[in-house]
Formats: sequence, C-alpha cells, structure tokens
Amino acid sequence: MPRRHPRMMVRRSSPGASSTIGDSENTTGMHNEIERPRATEDSLRSLIDAVPGFVWSAAPDGYVTFLNQRWADYTGVQLCDAQGFGWTQSLHPDDAPELAVYWGQLLQSGEAGEYEARLRRFDGTYRWFLIRAVPQRDESGAILCWYGENTDIEDRKRAEMLLAGEKRLLSMIAGGSALTPILEALCELVEASFNGGLCSIVLVDLKHPYPASEPVPRIQPGAAPHVPLDLVPGADGRPADAVLCPVAMAAVTNEQVIVGDLNHETRWNGWRTRALSHGLQANWSTPVTSTNGTVSGILSILHREPQTPSTAQRNLIAQCTHLASIAIDRARNEAALGKIRSELTHLARVASLGALTASIAHEVNQPLAGIITNASTCLRMLGADPPNVAGALETARRTIRDGNRASDVINRLRALFSKKSITLESVDINEAAREVIAMLLGELQRNGVMLHPEFADNLPQVMGDRVQLQQVILNLILNATEAMNTISSRSRHLQVSTHADDNDRVCLTVRDNGNGFDPQDVQRLFTAFYTTKSSGMGIGLSVSRSIIERHEGSLWATVNEDGPGASFRFALPRITQSDNAGESVTTQETP
Ligand code: ADP
Repeated sequence: MPRRHPRMMVRRSSPGASSTIGDSENTTGMHNEIERPRATEDSLRSLIDAVPGFVWSAAPDGYVTFLNQRWADYTGVQLCDAQGFGWTQSLHPDDAPELAVYWGQLLQSGEAGEYEARLRRFDGTYRWFLIRAVPQRDESGAILCWYGENTDIEDRKRAEMLLAGEKRLLSMIAGGSALTPILEALCELVEASFNGGLCSIVLVDLKHPYPASEPVPRIQPGAAPHVPLDLVPGADGRPADAVLCPVAMAAVTNEQVIVGDLNHETRWNGWRTRALSHGLQANWSTPVTSTNGTVSGILSILHREPQTPSTAQRNLIAQCTHLASIAIDRARNEAALGKIRSELTHLARVASLGALTASIAHEVNQPLAGIITNASTCLRMLGADPPNVAGALETARRTIRDGNRASDVINRLRALFSKKSITLESVDINEAAREVIAMLLGELQRNGVMLHPEFADNLPQVMGDRVQLQQVILNLILNATEAMNTISSRSRHLQVSTHADDNDRVCLTVRDNGNGFDPQDVQRLFTAFYTTKSSGMGIGLSVSRSIIERHEGSLWATVNEDGPGASFRFALPRITQSDNAGESVTTQETP
C-alpha cells in the first residue's frame, strides 16, 4: 500500500467537502447554488461515465468524494472502497509515495497540477496515466473542491521508452560496444515493453556443410538476462533442430513462430514441459533478418499468461528485431574485418619472410649439398681398410670451407638487406605504433592480451623509413604476444610505450609478462636463425636490429626485473634542424 499524505487522511465537514459531483444532496456541485432536476443529474452522471477517461472530485483537503464508473471498471475496485483514500491502493507501489507528496503540495498551494503514475488494472497489469487536478473556487477565492481527470498515456509512455531505449542501443552500437551487452540491453527493453515478458536473443549462423547445398543454421548463445537457461537453445553449437523448441523452428524456417498457449501444444515436448514448469505459457519467436535476407538470430519472448500478439505488439517486435539485426550485422562485419586485417598482417609478414627464405634457401643450398657430400666421402675414407686419412683430411677441410661459404651467404644476405634503399621521411613514432596496434587489435583480442599503450606527449619525430620502422614494431608486438601464448596462470599484459630519453633519442618499448628468456642468451636472440619456437624462423629480431641500426639507432632486450617477461626497446635519434631543413622525403641508397 502506498504511503498516504497526512493531510489526505483528514475528512473535513466544511461545505466545500460535500459540494462535489456525485453528492446527491448538492446535485452537480459545480453550480451548487442551483437546484437541478433529477433527470439532469442522471444525464450528467451518464456523461461523466461516458468520458473516455477517469473523472473524480475531492474535498479541499484531498478526500476523494467521487470517482466515475470507468475508474471502477478499470481498477476492479468498488467505488465505495475507493472513496476517501481507498483509491491509492490502485497506484503502483513505486509511484505512490511521490504522488502523495505531490498531491500534498498541490493541496497546500491550491494550484492546478498534473502527475504521471501507473494505475493497476483489474487483471493486475499497470498502465501509465496522466493525473490532472484543478481547484474549483468560490468568489472569495476559497477552494470549494478539486476536480480531476486521469488520461491513459500508456501508448505515449511506451513510445517514449522505446525511443529512449532505441537511442541508447544505437549509441552503444555506434560506440563499438561488445555484442552481448547490446543484446542484453535490447532484451531488457523488450521486457519493459511487453509487461512481464521474458526476452532472449540467440545468434544464428548459416553453415554450408559439404556436400549439402543448403546452408544449415546453427544456434549460438546471444543474450538471455532473465530467461531460465534450460529454455535457451544454442549452448551445444549443434545444427538447429526444428523439433526441439520454437526458437529452433524459427531458425530453420526463417519464419515467426507464435505459440499462444503452450498447454494446448503438442510439439517440442521436453522444452514445453520445462517452460510450463517455469510458469511460462506462451512463446513468440521471431527471426532477426540480416541485410542480405538470411536469418542472423531469433528474438524470443516468453509470457506467463497465454496470449497472441496484437498488431501493435507485432510492430513493436518488428522494431526490436530490426535493432537486433543492426547490432548483429555490425558485430559480424567487425569480426570479419578484424580477421581479414590480421590475416593480411600475417600474410604481409609471411610474404616478406617467404621471399627472404627462398633466396636464402637457394644460396645456402649449394654449400649445404657440398657439406653433405664431403662429410659422407670423409666417412667412407675413414671406414676403408686401411683408412684413407689424407683423403679424409682433405674432404674434412672442404666441409669446413663449405660451412664457411654458407655462413658467408647469410652474412651477405643480411648486408644485402641493410643496403636496401629506404625512403626517408619524418616519422611520428606514436602514430606509427598506433597504426600497427590498430592492425593487430583482432590478433591481440584473440590471444586474450590486454594492451596498455602509453604514448608520451610531444614526442619528437625521427627521420626514417616509416614502413620499415612499423615492421620492427609489428615484429616486437607479435613476438611479445607469442611469448605470452602459453601463459594461463596470469592475465596477459602487453605494454607499448614511448618516451624521449636524456640523450634526445626517441624510444619505444614493448614489454610483456610472458616467458621471458635466459639473460645469458640475450645476444643470441638477435643472431639470424636463432629461434626457440617450433615453427619460428629466427630472423625477425636480426632483421629488426639491422633496420634500427640502419636508422642509426639501437635495439636491445632485457628481462623484466620487477616481474615476469621481457622488454624490447629501440632508441632512434630525434629529427634535427638540418633534417628538417632538407627535403622531407628522399630515397637513400647506402653505399
Ligand atoms: P622467431 O620469432 O621466428 O623465433 P625472432 O628473431 O623474432 O624469431 O626471435 C628469436 C627468438 O627470440 C625467439 O625464438 C624467442 O626465443 C626470443 N624472443 C623474441 N621475443 C621474445 C619475447 N618477447 N620474450 C621472450 N623471448 C623472446
């Protein structure tokens, strides 16, 4: 029961208190100086009852003396019980206290006013009403009574709520929120719009299994903030089976499934029994259609009472599924884009390494073949009876020669690489790093890596080849990600930071909390073909060091002292006045 304002509890016996509509002694109350004939009073009462709203009157102290029949029909409360303050029992418990305060203020000020509150219908559902009250005064200005009228504003309230919800959801979608919270917010909006309904949204993925030509829908979890979990399909990720539940049927047929009363339903036996045991008796499952016309999800509403949707409710469902389709399409496009980005990154990396590997393989192959031939000749000579020691010595010498030749090849290749022409321009390392990070976000997300960028303000620019420097940053970040791949006992943190050091050099550090390395191996990390990974090439760091040294900078690694993992840092000279004075973009070939 709502709290009652103290003033509303008092019944005064002033003339004003009785000069109201419905008071038979004073006929109309509006013109109480005139004695109205009975017929007029009856027709006035019929008129008041015919008004498409609730009409009431109250004494100057707020004691309600009259309510029309419509009010009684709506609330299911007898008029005799509603008189005085009995009407307050129909108010929504959340609205009653504030309305009592507001009504008390009106009575005190004597001003007309209006208030929005929910009134309970005879069947227990609440609808919003605009409650208006106007004082009736005598010539001296004293209040004789209050007249009131309540108008049903449920549709307007719902439209407002839907609009506000829609705006909130669209800004979440535009702001790049994750799909689950968006769908959860949408479910809550649907639940608020469908009194007491429980909403869930599942995702539907269409897969083309070989050799079937028709795509098979698979249901995946979406959002179901209040629906019992044993009623939500999709946890197993198996192909949707229409006989399992209405949601699956809607996914398979791409058509709305309306079950007005589960008690009279013979399909979906297990699911139906579970739904009824939860006190849920109706289900409306509607496909969410993506822009290409395929089903991308199902929006399901479960109801406690048997019911079928009205036209207005069907329109509302259409609006909500449209919102869901925007959210799902957007998330899927983002995911596809992220995947393509990261594949491109890998492709670029692999392609450049691939080209290098091919040339290395070609160059190294010859001395390698020589080494093998010489080594087996050597063995044969030593195994002969008597052993041909002089010949074996000669072939062993040739083996060493070929080994040196192979190593020369590698050195030559590295030198070749560092002689590659580079494009010099002024580079903002913060910006270059941000671009690399943007490209790698999907990769980091997939690996569960938390990124902490810490870019220094007013970082001086450097002179260099932007693309090559970005290759170094990319390599350091991918290495750090790989170094954290096996970590499961702690969360994976990657810090990319920049600063200008005391020697006016621009530094970039990539710090991870991965496996780290043995400090004794620190120099080996930068030698070509040193790798600890089963599928590693071992040339990323050696190439990176060549690039940085080519830019007159240095690249080094340290084991973190204050925690697990490693830090890789490069420092480059900042751009100078003379750099700036020259051409901003030049191509330089080192001798
Ligand atoms: P690859 O990644 O193909 O192994 P790299 O030259 O990039 O080649 O790296 C050489 C080796 O350096 C790696 O195999 C790894 O052992 C070590 N390393 C590189 N980055 C890290 C890191 N962030 N933490 C620990 N070890 C690292």
